Amino acid sequence: MEDTIAAIATPPGTGSIGIVRVSGPGSGEIASLIFRPSNKTDGFSSHRLYHGDIISPDTGRVIDEVLISFMMKPHSYTGEDILEINCHGSAFILQSVLTLVINAGARLAEPGEFTKRAFLNNRIDLSQAEAVAETIMAKTDLSLDLALSHLKGGLACKIETIRNAIIDILATLETSIDFSDEDVEAANPSGVMSDIEAVIRELTELASTYSEGKIYRDGINAVITGRPNVGKSSLLNRLLGEKRAIVTAMPGTTRDFIEEVIPIKGVPVRLTDTAGIREPQNIIEEEGVNLVWEKLAQADVVIVVFDGSETLTKEDEEIIERCKAKKFILVINKADLPHVIDEKELTGLAPDVMPPLWISAKHGDGISALTDAIHSLALYGADYESGRALNIVSNIRHKIAIERTRDMLLKAREGMLEGLSPEFPAFDIRQSLERLGEIAGETVTEEVLEKIFATFCIGK
Ligand code: GDP
Repeated sequence: MEDTIAAIATPPGTGSIGIVRVSGPGSGEIASLIFRPSNKTDGFSSHRLYHGDIISPDTGRVIDEVLISFMMKPHSYTGEDILEINCHGSAFILQSVLTLVINAGARLAEPGEFTKRAFLNNRIDLSQAEAVAETIMAKTDLSLDLALSHLKGGLACKIETIRNAIIDILATLETSIDFSDEDVEAANPSGVMSDIEAVIRELTELASTYSEGKIYRDGINAVITGRPNVGKSSLLNRLLGEKRAIVTAMPGTTRDFIEEVIPIKGVPVRLTDTAGIREPQNIIEEEGVNLVWEKLAQADVVIVVFDGSETLTKEDEEIIERCKAKKFILVINKADLPHVIDEKELTGLAPDVMPPLWISAKHGDGISALTDAIHSLALYGADYESGRALNIVSNIRHKIAIERTRDMLLKAREGMLEGLSPEFPAFDIRQSLERLGEIAGETVTEEVLEKIFATFCIGK
């Protein structure tokens, strides 16, 4: 029999409410030991709230006034009896209540252990368990959309359809093995072949959605760079819609990196404002500039800012050179001032990228064209269509499993083309089912499970 686990399910710190969550066969017993209802009750019903006090069984001292609820098995998150204690949201109270719960017979839950139990009790499959973490981490409406569709089993359903198609192929092949000695018409190999190829195509397409899925899930890094005083901090503020970076007229004020996440058309974009690039005057400045080059190397998209009210300089040219290995956007700021910059010269320095965008960070002109450009550069112009979430893979583990499934099917196909006896492709196809089963968690090792759940927070 499983033991009973407990954890604080709400974030650390002070809040209006904090929740201690308990799951396992001892939940009811624990409640009867430490909870004193304000109205007399004969036992607790499932999915109801009860008002009362948490008391120390040893001293009778009241720890908090709470609401508790029971979710009786199997209709609970974990599939076990769950007790949730809604306390006042103080770290001290929550810790005290958790200690009472532990003293009453529970043990401290490991990270993700509630969700792991939900998976082990077949409440959800592994891809849905992973989607729980994805849902909590979602930063924009689209990443949430994607996570929720995975949580509701969208991907699981798609994988199940593919699995059934592979099982059908295997059944046909195995029939041809069973009857090959008798003179029964063997399975039509060309029919099997086209079925295998159709599944291979579907798997390839699904795996290819990962680059897009990853962007919706994890977002992109956009780094703002340029000479001092061209308006990088002003642009960051404009994009953030608030005065987050310090704007001054003195060159070189943005010393450290400032990072903020903003949603651009559903994509979480981590914006980094860098120190202005200029010829280093001393060793500290040199280190600062080197750090900028490092940041640039990690960027998915670089926004290179120029001052439209000045002529181009050697530093501007060097920055462009450094960005050429990256996807970058040329932005000419201070469009509200007289246009001094030689736009043709600038275009000549980077002939392969989109023509420069004129903006005024100070007044907001051209900003929406810039956000559109960031989005389309990150996603190669692909736009999210609602309803597509079900068919987008955003988890690297799933992508690898899909590719391995496809590789085994390719091997089976090759064997058939070489005219091998059907046992061989049938073996490869069985292997492909094993690989596909990793997504739902049917064929994963305990080690893999541990690794997955270790990334969860405690109490989830
Ligand atoms: P950074 O060093 O590149 O981060 O530049 P800042 O954002 O600190 O801006 C430097 C100066 O340029 C400040 O005085 C800003 O007010 C000014 N500035 C920034 N953007 C604009 C703009 O679009 N138009 C005008 N006229 N001034 C701007």
